Amino acid sequence: MSRFWSAVVHGLTPYVPGEQPKLDNLVKLNTNEHPYGPSPKALDAIRCATSDSLRLYPDPNGDALKIALAKRFGVQAKQVFVGNGSDEVLAHAFQALLKHDRALWFPDVTYSFYPVYCGLYGLAHKAIPLADDFSIRVEDYLPRSGDRAGAIIFPNPNAPTGRLLTLAEVEQIVAGNPDAVVLVDEAYVDFGGESAVTLVDRHPNLLVVHTFSKSRSLAGLRVGYAIGHADLIEGLERVKNSFNSYPLDRLALAGAVASVEDEAFFQESCRKVIATRETLVAQMQALGFEVLPSAANFVFARHPRRDGGELAAALRQRAIIVRHFKQARIDQFLRITVGTDEQCAKLVAALGEILSA
Ligand code: PMP
Repeated sequence: MSRFWSAVVHGLTPYVPGEQPKLDNLVKLNTNEHPYGPSPKALDAIRCATSDSLRLYPDPNGDALKIALAKRFGVQAKQVFVGNGSDEVLAHAFQALLKHDRALWFPDVTYSFYPVYCGLYGLAHKAIPLADDFSIRVEDYLPRSGDRAGAIIFPNPNAPTGRLLTLAEVEQIVAGNPDAVVLVDEAYVDFGGESAVTLVDRHPNLLVVHTFSKSRSLAGLRVGYAIGHADLIEGLERVKNSFNSYPLDRLALAGAVASVEDEAFFQESCRKVIATRETLVAQMQALGFEVLPSAANFVFARHPRRDGGELAAALRQRAIIVRHFKQARIDQFLRITVGTDEQCAKLVAALGEILSA
């Protein structure tokens, strides 16, 4: 607390990311990073970019990356926005596109950065309860007598539940709210969902946000992007260019372009994570866990007879860290990132030991 703070700072409740421990030899399954490394072609491109050219500013527009992404998704480059991680893309979207007189709607159990951005940018929001099975109910997001959203945001698959809406369900929400921007945060979509990018040409109110941090194994590079109607992208560019001209540095641009161009590596590394997830789900179910259906690179699970917080603490004592949220409705759940087969085997063995103690 300081008398030198601006008034807004006093009212902020900052986001708390999962811990990045300084200890070695941990089985780190708490922040949904990819267990295998990024494309070797991306690493080569980053090495090549590590040169004398670093004395020069990067391209403020990130055009090479926009062109690569536009080609990958069959859209025009002016329909693509790039930023420093999808968190930054989301932040700009909150300010540029989601802030209106009416409240922003999002699920009560979702990515906990959303209410933080509401606090930072002064958005009113309404938290819509998930169904008892932790799914998003489409009808809850459609306008009803006297009430409609100023804008809508949800992750698909949702985080931290991992539950997926089908493309048809997403389109119902988008088409049912033609006067509101619907932002679909697809941070985890490559692990089992169908992207709504294919809908952007039909719906000028749809913005789809992706990240390189999960399926492309480049969390440390900080690259995210949005795809939507060119007018939505222009709104984002106006905010971005009033904030930071160069959010993506030369290394990030080079690595991200090479990653996008290495489609075969990308497909294979997603496939490996999905295969490991399926094994992990079966093994956890065999231990008595209720595991929500996951289309993400994590599972969300609770044990009918063991407290979630105590399980997380017991795992930690065995050098395995998972995420536990002390939040109403989900405080009995563990969110466990799908690691390598070896890491998941260690986790399952530790859980077996803890449960039989
Ligand atoms: N959206 C969701 C749903 C997430 O879980 C995360 C990761 N914390 C992000 C966006 C942000 O990812 P990044 O900033 O690394 O792109």
